[in-house]
Amino acid sequence: MATGCPMMTATKISDHPCFGGDHSKAGRIHLPVAPGCNIKCGFCERRFDCVNESRPGVTSRVLTPEQALARVRLVKRHMEMKGGAELKVVGIAGPGDPLDNPKTFSAFDLVRKEFPEMKLCLSTNGLLLPQSVNKIIAAGVTSLTITMNALTPQTGAKVYEWVRHEGKKLKGEEGAAILLHNQLEGLRLATAAGLIVKINHVYIPEINDHETLELAIKVRELGAQMMNITPVIPVGMFRDVIPPTALTMDMVRNQAELILSQARHCKQCRADAAGVVGQDIDLEMLEGGK
Ligand code: SF4
Ligand code: SF4
Repeated sequence: MATGCPMMTATKISDHPCFGGDHSKAGRIHLPVAPGCNIKCGFCERRFDCVNESRPGVTSRVLTPEQALARVRLVKRHMEMKGGAELKVVGIAGPGDPLDNPKTFSAFDLVRKEFPEMKLCLSTNGLLLPQSVNKIIAAGVTSLTITMNALTPQTGAKVYEWVRHEGKKLKGEEGAAILLHNQLEGLRLATAAGLIVKINHVYIPEINDHETLELAIKVRELGAQMMNITPVIPVGMFRDVIPPTALTMDMVRNQAELILSQARHCKQCRADAAGVVGQDIDLEMLEGGK
């Protein structure tokens, strides 16, 4: 198991607000260039026209790579003028799966040419990860988040409605097994290639909660450096689920922390979040309601 140089890793993590860096100094922007998704999580309701809801999968609009670059320019300048935190990280986290959308790499390419100092970050469900690791490295991405909500096909069949693989929509355990295999293999390849990897896990009481700690052990073995356990938001297929209490989340994270470092600050940001985590910039206002 190779996880890259420990010194390099420490430096990169301290610059990234979502990988243990200083929230008050490092800003981030999510570029919503990736609308399509190749799986369907039961709790996912993506919205592309929403300004007042704050959760993953939501954006006020989908951008082209060129529009995304213009937004990076604008947000960077705005943060410089305001003082305090600087824009340090440019990430692509949907609203769908970035690896299922070629515009992800076009956007990274444009950003990297104009702002080579920015840390690039990507979030994926992992289905296309094994075949994409080389491309991710070539794009200059240094940190990766893989969302894994099951450790067995049986549980995966309850969490995922379908998985699109080689042109076919696979339901139940068949689709979940392929997704799980690719997530684990992709994680192994990504850490071996030197990427810093965080595992996101949506905690769904009575659905996948019995696998959370085993998942932490498994992903640690494969080189993941951090885990981020977030409570399910009751939407979609899980609209009637009672989300875990803050106390339950604390207990689960405390147990998981004994296995793998936990990112406890996560605010479950939108696919177009910009600024300092928890104090997002009003993009409608900044962009003049375009
Ligand atoms: Fe939604 Fe993300 Fe799941 Fe795709 S991977 S269905 S965008 S939550
Ligand atoms: Fe950071 Fe969580 Fe927001 Fe992603 S969703 S930018 S990990 S706080």
